[in-house]
Amino acid sequence: MSSYVRDILSRYDLDNLSIATLASHSSLQIVHGAKKEGFRTLLVVTDDRLWFYRQFRHLVDDFVVVKRWSELCSEDVIEALRKRNSIFVPHGSFIEYVGIECATRLPIPIFGLRSLFPVEADQHAKMRLLGSAGIPIPRVYSVDEEPGGLVIVKLPGAKGGRGYFIASSKGEIVQGLRKLLDEGVVRSVDGVMVQEYLVGVTAYFHYFYSPVLDRLEITGADIRYESDVDGLRRIPVKKLLELGLEPTFTVVGNIPVVLRESIMPVVMDYGARFVEATKTQLPPGVIGPFCLEAVIGRDTGVRVFEFSGRIVAGTNLYIDGSPYTYLYWDEPMSVGRRISREVKLALERGVLEKVVT
Ligand code: AMP
Repeated sequence: MSSYVRDILSRYDLDNLSIATLASHSSLQIVHGAKKEGFRTLLVVTDDRLWFYRQFRHLVDDFVVVKRWSELCSEDVIEALRKRNSIFVPHGSFIEYVGIECATRLPIPIFGLRSLFPVEADQHAKMRLLGSAGIPIPRVYSVDEEPGGLVIVKLPGAKGGRGYFIASSKGEIVQGLRKLLDEGVVRSVDGVMVQEYLVGVTAYFHYFYSPVLDRLEITGADIRYESDVDGLRRIPVKKLLELGLEPTFTVVGNIPVVLRESIMPVVMDYGARFVEATKTQLPPGVIGPFCLEAVIGRDTGVRVFEFSGRIVAGTNLYIDGSPYTYLYWDEPMSVGRRISREVKLALERGVLEKVVT
C-alpha cells in the first residue's frame, strides 16, 4: 500500500466504511454482498441509469450521480467517496469506463492490485505474465511471422466483437488487418495480438486470493455465451462456407459449469502460479478476485489464453454462492460477499493495508 493510500485511510472512520463501486457489471452482487457483511454501500451511477438502480434502494445507502463515468476522478466525486469512508471495488467495466489513467490514479483505497491495471490493458504484457508464471498459454506469433496453424488475431479494444478474426497464413493476417483498417473498424493495428487458435471447449475459472488468510479459493466457473460464434453451429457447414461469415466473440451472457473433478487440481495449480507470479513481479501480488480464461482440449489439457485481474461478470451466476464457495464457507457466499468478508476479516485483525492499494 502506498503511503498516499495509507494517509487517506488514516483519516477514515473505520467503523463506518462504505463499499463503493460503479453501477454496472457486477455492482448489484457487490453491494448485496457488502450489505450481508454489514457495510454501508455506495454506487457511482450515470443519471440515465439511476432509475434502474433505485429499484434496489434497499441495497444502496448512497448514490453519487454523474453524467459521464470519467467524472469518477473529479474533485466532487472523490470528496463524496472520501466523506463516506469508501473502499472502491473495481470490476470488469471499471477501466473500460473510466480509462486507465483515472483507474490508476484514483485517490481512494482500492480493493485489489492497482499495479495490475496497466498490465491488463496490454495484451502482450498479459501473456508475458501468464507465461512467466509457468501457465501453459497458446503460442504467440508476430504479425510478420508465418503461423504454424490456425490463429486468432485480436485487435486491442475490440473485445471479441468486430476486430477479432481467424486466419491460417501470414497472407490472411495481413489481408484481414488491411480490411479492418479500410472499413474503419480500427484506426490502427498497434498492439495486435496473433495467438494460436486453441481447439477445445472454453472455460473461465473464477478465483479469490485472500491475503488475510493467505489462501487461494476457487469460487466458480462459467462458459461465456458469445455472439455469434456460439450461434454459427446451428447453421449447416455447407451454408456457412457459402456465407463466408467471420465469427464475432462478443459476450452476451454466461452459462454455469461445474468442472470434472480431476481437472480441478490443474485449475488450482494454475491459480496458485498466477498468485505467485504477481507476488514476485507486482508486489504485494493479486488481491481478491481474478479469472483465468482457458480452453480445455480433447486430452483435457488446459491452456490459458487470457486473464482478468478483477471480479468477472460470470460470478453473477452465483449470487447465492456456488458449488465451490460452499466447500469453504458452508453458507451462501457470492464473490461480492467474499470481497466484503475479506475487508471485514482484515479490519478485525487490524491488517486493512493488506487488501487495499
Ligand atoms: P478475449 O477477448 O481474449 O477474452 O477473447 C474473446 C473470445 O475469443 C474468448 O472468450 C474465446 O471464445 C475466443 N478466444 C480468444 N482467444 C482464443 C484462443 N487463443 N483460442 C481459441 N479461442 C479464443
